[in-house]
Amino acid sequence: MERTLSIIKPDATRRSITGKINAMIEEAGLSIIAQKRIRLSVSQAEEFYGVHKERPFFKDLVEFITSGPVVVQVLEADNAIPLYRKTMGATNPSEAEEGTIRAAHAESIEANSVHGSDSAENAVIEINFFFDQDEIVG
Ligand code: ATP
Ligand code: MG
Repeated sequence: MERTLSIIKPDATRRSITGKINAMIEEAGLSIIAQKRIRLSVSQAEEFYGVHKERPFFKDLVEFITSGPVVVQVLEADNAIPLYRKTMGATNPSEAEEGTIRAAHAESIEANSVHGSDSAENAVIEINFFFDQDEIVG
């Protein structure tokens, strides 16, 4: 079994579609084994998205991700990392395959409803960033 870190982003909490997204996650065969609703501080967001700090969209991204509540989750399945990336769809919703979360729900390349870890190494770092071991019930 593999674990990945998911974030349901502020564009989705604002539209009250976290339940719809969770249904798509569970229908894809991913178990939600930890979940909490939080509001990221600017410094937390800058640290979380640190790999993007030289990108032109970094400032806007930090502003967006701190603009409202997010739901952070740990998802578990065989091959959870690639399975969730496939379930989310492409970063840009206009390129996301039909049936994916981003095709169904994302508003733009920035406000794209969900985040998923992109490697096993980053999944461990990202899960530990948000969760204590006793908050994860597999
Ligand atoms: P995530 O890391 O959120 O799962 P991703 O791995 O598909 O998304 P990244 O390249 O890691 O995409 O970008 C992180 C986030 O930064 C994107 O999800 C999106 O919110 C934002 N982003 C990426 N590219 C752009 C862009 N060209 N313009 C504006 N925002 C962008
Ligand atoms: Mg990414």
